[in-house]
Amino acid sequence: MPTLKINGTSIAAESNQTILEAARSSGIEIPTLCWYPKLAVVGNCRICVVDVKGSDKLLPACATKVADGMEVTTESDRAIDARRGVLEFLLERYPGEHLSNGGREKPANEFEEYVVRYGVIPKPRTLDLRGGDERPGDPMIRHDMSLCILCTRCVRACEDIQVVGVLDVAYRGEHAQIVVGNDGDADRAACTWCGECVRVCPTGAIFEVMPWKTYGKARVEADHVARSVCPYCGVGCQIDLHVKDNTVVRVTSPSFEEDTPNYGSTCVKGRFGYDFTQHRDRLTKPLIRKGWEREGTRWVWKGPGGTARRDGPWRTMADEGAQDKPSAPPRAQGKRIRDLPLLDRITMDVRDRATTPADWYQPFREATWDEALDLAAHELGRIHAAHGGDAMAVFQSAKCTNEENYLLQRLFRARFGTNNIDHCTRLCHSTSVSAMQAALNTAAASGSMREVETAADVIFIAGANTTETHPVFGAALKRAHERGAFLIVADPRQHELARRADIHLQMQPGTDVALYGAMVQHILAEGLEDKAFIAARTHNVDAVRQAVQAYTPEKAQAITGVPAHLIRAAAEHYARGPNTSTLWAMGLTQHLTGHDMVTSILNLILATGMIGRWGAAMMPVRGQNNVQGSSDMGGIPFVYPDYQPVQDLEVRAKFATTWGVDPERLSTIPGLKVTEMAREGSPTRGLFIMGENPIISDPDIAHAEAWFRGVEFLAVQDLFLTETARYADVVLPGGSFAEKDGTFVNTERRIQLAHKAIDPPGDARADWEILVDLSERCGLPTPFTHPGQIMEEIRRVAPSWAGVRYERLDGTGGLQYPVPADDHPGTDFLFPDEFPTADGKATFHPVEYAPPSELPSDEYPYVMNTGRQLYHWHTGTMTRRSQGLDAREPIATVEIHPDDAIELGVTDGDQVKLTSRRNAITISVRISDRVARKQVFVPFHFREAAANLLTSPVLEPHAKMPALKICAVRIEPVAVLATT
Ligand code: SF4
Repeated sequence: MPTLKINGTSIAAESNQTILEAARSSGIEIPTLCWYPKLAVVGNCRICVVDVKGSDKLLPACATKVADGMEVTTESDRAIDARRGVLEFLLERYPGEHLSNGGREKPANEFEEYVVRYGVIPKPRTLDLRGGDERPGDPMIRHDMSLCILCTRCVRACEDIQVVGVLDVAYRGEHAQIVVGNDGDADRAACTWCGECVRVCPTGAIFEVMPWKTYGKARVEADHVARSVCPYCGVGCQIDLHVKDNTVVRVTSPSFEEDTPNYGSTCVKGRFGYDFTQHRDRLTKPLIRKGWEREGTRWVWKGPGGTARRDGPWRTMADEGAQDKPSAPPRAQGKRIRDLPLLDRITMDVRDRATTPADWYQPFREATWDEALDLAAHELGRIHAAHGGDAMAVFQSAKCTNEENYLLQRLFRARFGTNNIDHCTRLCHSTSVSAMQAALNTAAASGSMREVETAADVIFIAGANTTETHPVFGAALKRAHERGAFLIVADPRQHELARRADIHLQMQPGTDVALYGAMVQHILAEGLEDKAFIAARTHNVDAVRQAVQAYTPEKAQAITGVPAHLIRAAAEHYARGPNTSTLWAMGLTQHLTGHDMVTSILNLILATGMIGRWGAAMMPVRGQNNVQGSSDMGGIPFVYPDYQPVQDLEVRAKFATTWGVDPERLSTIPGLKVTEMAREGSPTRGLFIMGENPIISDPDIAHAEAWFRGVEFLAVQDLFLTETARYADVVLPGGSFAEKDGTFVNTERRIQLAHKAIDPPGDARADWEILVDLSERCGLPTPFTHPGQIMEEIRRVAPSWAGVRYERLDGTGGLQYPVPADDHPGTDFLFPDEFPTADGKATFHPVEYAPPSELPSDEYPYVMNTGRQLYHWHTGTMTRRSQGLDAREPIATVEIHPDDAIELGVTDGDQVKLTSRRNAITISVRISDRVARKQVFVPFHFREAAANLLTSPVLEPHAKMPALKICAVRIEPVAVLATT
């Protein structure tokens, strides 16, 4: 380890470090412009030059390795002179008027800070360089290239971090300039609007639009900045919310050097999708359905009976779908979205769609919190007294904090004695959980995103479009591929990672079991299995050996359509690793045979021993930002927090003591799953929904909607009057992620602390505050005045969380559970020696291929697949109210293969009618070769073309997961509409 002196201070450095790295790790600042953490070193700006004893020349600190005995002076006279020279040279390109712009007290950016620090006086600009805005009118990212100093950070960040390569340097010498793509068209250059260029630009030449008040260089100075966690996907990026006058005006991300899951990056949703918090549709007061009246201490319904009680002036979702109504406004029809003027895209939502229609409020009256909570407590108590706990049910929220999810299940378990508690994990990874519990007795990822990025030799991704659904992780996967990891993708669609993959197994939808079975068969046949791992750490391999015998690669080829040689090659690469990480998501889980598909992946993992060491991660990639935490906090019907079974009497006694209730009050009967609660014949009479919108997310919406209209009492706690909330008896306005303290768990079991940045609007309240109040009113003592106190109770009852305290989370990258003690550092990967089963071994489970639940026919010749898009999230309640995001993807589109489009006689932007065996929607065409022939893809974010009106309600038998991924449809051009 070399020891050197920097400014007289002795420093022990790593042998491969540069002077700059050694200085930074010791807290010594050296100015930098072209250098930036994690970017390739180019060493061309020379502002980091330092004096090294014995060297005639100044040396660039970013490109000079440390040596033992080296003596460095960072601020010598000649180093300072050299820096002044660099700055003077750069100022020849830079507008002097910007330096004094508006008499700002503080320098406007990193570059100007150096100008001020080194006392450089700008001369009139000598070069007549381009200025102006290359992205005019863009609601998220704008350019003012008159400020560009050509440090090329943006070019390298786009290439090296996001692995996109939208930006480049064009021309040479004094004419050199940064350009977008080949022609200035960011769309054509495949920009994803992640804002990495904004983040690294030291001059503000590339900058974000601040949706509040103004755009541009007149940047609003924040009153304060609060560290939070992105409200969208399970990557759990940490973000900093800049607040002015109780409004979030800007989002930045932590430095690359902080140990956060995102290493300082975000995707477009994290950086720009925050303005929904200020959207005019936010609920600011509790609402009570007209017809409820308080009589003394009782509440009485005096409105119409039956489902008429929930009638409104609106049309039902089924009505909407059934009519031949264009899903896009007239301006958008017959055009590709990218051809629409930006202003049209931006304002479309205001005039046409997405936001809450005014008439949805008509059946409600505004209420006080006292009235609203009193009604909720009264009706829940009445139904419980009359019908017992089985008549109650709860949808928890994968968007709310751990503390809030803990409180909600605590109320319904302790006060109402029911385990009918579930959340949207049922619709995304419940089959992963059922299969992983059967094989390994676990319900979470074994590893970390970072190990996949840095240590996996082979990455196998099944049914996951990671670059769109988990973009920051997607970028990490691309970086892993760039460093040499071998990428295998199994997916019916040719999404970005599939195109990049070394092997793309493009199977027919729903044939995964045959595909992975054949990979196991080939591995066993070739003797590529990890025999020592199988012998020491598993049971039942022979049953799988037997079951896969018939699934030769040739047989799998006949079923899946994937050539046998590709199946063999994929199997061999997977088995040889030496470290193979395995990722999957909803493309695998949302099938009638989803449990079997995940089981067959687990068989692959176990046969090759690809688990339990750094680089061999097992990662079901979780959807929402706290779907893992909601499960961890007991938001599933058969376990208390930390997966402690409801049938276990010792566990029951522990929770009863903690909650101060008689153990007999706590039910030992596993409860209903969400897909069982909202069904004909369900015993549910009183339903409480926090932050979920099942009418859009459930399969076969028409049936779901009819059920919700008929339920005896419905309370909804949410930010907006959603498609589900409009049927509620009482609506409680909750707080967004920015309006509360609390913790979230990301896809790698990382518990992170988010701080409150702003107050909720109007009378809205943080969800935990509402739940404390409601619990007290329901008669359950809930004496919490801050989420930190709730966490103290959680760590007492959840052994894996025993060492989790707010002080340990604050200002850090969080803790990956298990954290069994106060001094435990957390666990970045699991199962190095044993699995959490009775004997520490995992179990192989044989599975047989079964055809998909719904096959195409002459009448319904296409297979529809549903999923997410980059710019939207789930039911669109937040992203469609975020101006920049909605402008990028303003209308619902169906992806159709070019050859199918020719056959159908349709082109981009045309309207088509999609009809399944259940219902129909009208939707715009997007021609795309990402889908195979006779397959189409429909996002499920758009209520005006709700994909789930079409999908089948058939449930997977183990986890009761709906088979959302396969639905047979027919497509008919709606020519008349395209011209109206
Ligand atoms: Fe948010 Fe996920 Fe994007 Fe990160 S990758 S910014 S968590 S949506």
